[in-house]
Amino acid sequence: MSLRLGALPQHRTPPKGEHYDVLIAGAGPAGLSAAIYAARFLLKSVVITEDVGGQLNLTNVVDDYPATLSINATELISRFRDHAEKLFGVPIYTNISVQKLKREGDEYHVTGTRDLDVYAKTIILAVGSRRRKLNVPGEAEFTGRGVSYCSICDAPLYKGKDAVVVVGGGDAAFEGAILLSGYVKKVYLVHRRSEFRAKPYYVQEATSRPNIEFLLSSVVTEIRGDKLVRSVIVKNNLDGTTRELNVDGVFVEIGFEPPKEWYQSLGLEVDDLGYIKTDMWMRTNLPGVFAAGDAISLWRGFRQIVNAAASGAIAAYSAYTYLTERGLTRRPAPASREVKSIGGETAK
Ligand code: NAP
Repeated sequence: MSLRLGALPQHRTPPKGEHYDVLIAGAGPAGLSAAIYAARFLLKSVVITEDVGGQLNLTNVVDDYPATLSINATELISRFRDHAEKLFGVPIYTNISVQKLKREGDEYHVTGTRDLDVYAKTIILAVGSRRRKLNVPGEAEFTGRGVSYCSICDAPLYKGKDAVVVVGGGDAAFEGAILLSGYVKKVYLVHRRSEFRAKPYYVQEATSRPNIEFLLSSVVTEIRGDKLVRSVIVKNNLDGTTRELNVDGVFVEIGFEPPKEWYQSLGLEVDDLGYIKTDMWMRTNLPGVFAAGDAISLWRGFRQIVNAAASGAIAAYSAYTYLTERGLTRRPAPASREVKSIGGETAK
């Protein structure tokens, strides 16, 4: 494979009125994998995104993405980006949000922030999801002043501090607590249940750290402070008792939620939590609109980089198939991919 450096975008937005075969919204592992595959199918592609890396930006070291062994998340993001942008020449426009998709003939008229105004025959939505909030008194007031939603990003700022609270019982909370325990004298992990969602490896590691204390079946009900966070009120769900913990920081690691209302405003079908419904080929209910990565409903509870990347690749293939089947691109048609799903449904 020869390395061919593609043309990088010269503008902060794509040229107004430009037409694309595929527009990919989002540049996490799903969006960038879609870009890599779309380029492989010789489709005229563009990536429109708020940031590059998606939730990889919230991770420290990745040791479960096949064939990379253990890799710094920043390095993995760079590799995804370079692969799509430098090797295959797919332009990536950042700090832009897609807002509206309007069907016009065989295309979608796509508009968004920064005067985004382009046309695309197919769309791949890979916009991930947004952080869930605790919605307790003090949370909004102290955000950025002791309340953080990214342990990985902010842990070093707490070096030498006395105590912090991490809220949550999933991988992110455990990864954060383990990391913070290396900087802070005491880490409280507050979780609303007594069982954890986190991988056993994380649980084993965290429970072996003497400066991590678990407050289970408990919730943070209030965050207090002056200019900065000073304490939290924690309520035990089993007996209703409360206690005030003096802390310097509160790390809210309670997962993500999709932009359900936005998806619905586009006419997309979503599941009960607001994740986009797709079939196994990443097709949504809208013609020519595909979805991938954390945005989709398919593997709720097992959102992994490898899944995101795989779904991005599948979405690009489906966009390619959609275009060739309708004669919307001059690219050669792919081989038939008719398969039976487990439920017996035939997908083309
Ligand atoms: P998550 O897996 O959805 O876990 C969220 C945790 O927060 C759950 O324990 C949940 O409690 C709790 N929670 C949710 N809403 C809450 C609320 N309002 N108040 C209190 N607690 C609440 O989210 P995540 O840990 O951020 O991880 C997101 C995805 O990224 C997951 O798929 C995860 O595997 C992945 N990830 C992977 C890695 C890794 O493999 N290295 C690292 C980080 C994240 P319940 O358990 O009671 O529902």
